[in-house]
Amino acid sequence: MAATPIPLEVRNIKKRFGDTEVLKGLSLQANKGDVITLIGASGSGKSTFLRCMNLLEQPDEGDLLVHGEEIRFKMTRHGREPADWKQVVRMRAKLSMVFQSFNLWAHMTLLENIIEAPVHVLGTPKKEAIAHARDLLERVGLTARADAYPAQMSGGQQQRGAIARALAMNPEVMLFDEPTSALDPELVGDVLKVMRDLADEGRTMVVVTHEMGFARDVSSQVIYLHQGVVEEAGHPQDILTNPQSPRLQQFLAPKY
Ligand code: ADP
Ligand code: MG
Repeated sequence: MAATPIPLEVRNIKKRFGDTEVLKGLSLQANKGDVITLIGASGSGKSTFLRCMNLLEQPDEGDLLVHGEEIRFKMTRHGREPADWKQVVRMRAKLSMVFQSFNLWAHMTLLENIIEAPVHVLGTPKKEAIAHARDLLERVGLTARADAYPAQMSGGQQQRGAIARALAMNPEVMLFDEPTSALDPELVGDVLKVMRDLADEGRTMVVVTHEMGFARDVSSQVIYLHQGVVEEAGHPQDILTNPQSPRLQQFLAPKY
């Protein structure tokens, strides 16, 4: 029997903006069911790394494999670009991203937001997409808000809606970029609960977060970035309770 393909593999990614190299050779392997958390100070490259994983940013060097399929690149006068954008579209359907700013479309109801990509990208029949969307709304606790517009929902509801929308594509891997950082403190717990449920279900996830409790309890691996380099990585027990690098020790120390 053939081995199951690895959901996401990133090898030696480098990225520069102008003269500054912000990612200096980063690698990561997310096996099925892994929850990898990325931590690090502001500006350390967490978002850029995540954005390189679904090619919202183009890495200057390095390899990207999604479900075992290697993304092909070519050199142009603008730099390195994907050789085949159709391949990128296919691969992005396997990687759903949830951003810090809950980016639901304002002119659509929550239900319309959720069925948009399944219907228009995957070609799922509308009836089927709606049934799936209602299941997802139940899972994130938003059954009653199906017909609400984003502006009528709290930040926490919008973010849970954004997670439901990401799930609607049946992604192989979910990417989260500080999904709770823009929320009022009392709304953070509901979103983390949904993310914990996803982890318990065996979803493969890469999560940029400052929520150390989540990182400690849920992740299979924690990666600490410092200035575009992996300073320390490993099991949360080791990384968060017994950090070796003085920088990580300082990063984890109580601030006040
Ligand atoms: P983090 O998410 O860890 O806060 P980022 O990945 O957003 O870090 O940023 C890493 C570095 O790259 C920062 O110095 C930031 O200013 C820079 N950077 C990010 N995006 C761009 C961009 N589009 N153009 C120029 N510099 C950028
Ligand atoms: Mg960021």
